[in-house]
Amino acid sequence: MNKEYPGYVELHEKGELVKKVDSLYEMMQSCHLCPRRCGVARLKGEVGYCRAGAEVEISSFHHHMGEEPPISGWSGSGTIFFTHCSLRCVFCQNFPISQLGHGNKVSISRLAEIMLILQKKGCHNINLVTPTHFAPHVVAAVHIAVRQGLRIPLVYNCGGYEEILTLQLLKGVIDIYMPDIKYGENAQAKKYSNAPDYFDVAKKSVQEMHRQVGDLKLSPDNIAQRGLLIRHLILPHDLATSEKVLYFIKNEISPATYISIMSQYFPAYKAVDVEELQRKITNNEYRKILRLTQELHLEKGWRQS
Ligand code: SF4
Repeated sequence: MNKEYPGYVELHEKGELVKKVDSLYEMMQSCHLCPRRCGVARLKGEVGYCRAGAEVEISSFHHHMGEEPPISGWSGSGTIFFTHCSLRCVFCQNFPISQLGHGNKVSISRLAEIMLILQKKGCHNINLVTPTHFAPHVVAAVHIAVRQGLRIPLVYNCGGYEEILTLQLLKGVIDIYMPDIKYGENAQAKKYSNAPDYFDVAKKSVQEMHRQVGDLKLSPDNIAQRGLLIRHLILPHDLATSEKVLYFIKNEISPATYISIMSQYFPAYKAVDVEELQRKITNNEYRKILRLTQELHLEKGWRQS
């Protein structure tokens, strides 16, 4: 087994990948793929909180140069944007896709073909954007694509609000986890993402991800190979309670965690009607969080300006 290959290749060779597909689809019978645990029969077409049904839906796929440097590299990240989301963030910049349901159903074989197209374009990875509610379809597509030569790592680019059982089934399939930690307190998560247990769930989710893949490892030419990369978007008035997020990462994940501190918040979607969310962050708010990362010696990662 060539260790340069992503984990799903070995799982496929051992006959374990197909078992994971079956187990993940089983979770859709009474859907508990995410912490909402709606219990709807998605395979019979019922929809739950996220509004996803039996078939996978995507809005687009791209060769993308705008992700963090080791994800986009010099040759791009192969992003696939999945329709719907299990969070309802009032400020979501992708709301037409995540909340208004823009996108189209695709077959599993087409999803596999898209992964192979992105690999052929030279992308360093397949970047699965908001994949949680379609985890069974993703792994089923990988099971087809691996037999046709897929050999680049999968990036699980998610909101951090994950079901541990789903993550455990993804063990070995996903080489790079790229979750958000959106808030360091549940109260804000309840108010702005309708997820009253968000921080409790996100802490456990990110710990499980780190257990599986460890700190981010880069190739000699600085391309992500395997590991954890956490994103955190600063909100105005410190509504993301960033300090608590950073302390959690330092004390309960690893001080060597790669963190992408994002400053590009703007009032999108319903945030235009929420007074405290109606402005961008200030330079002072941004610098305060950067100072804190230095004081905590959280020095790996990227800062956007
Ligand atoms: S994936 Fe969707 S249907 Fe399933 S538990 Fe989560 S919100 Fe409910």
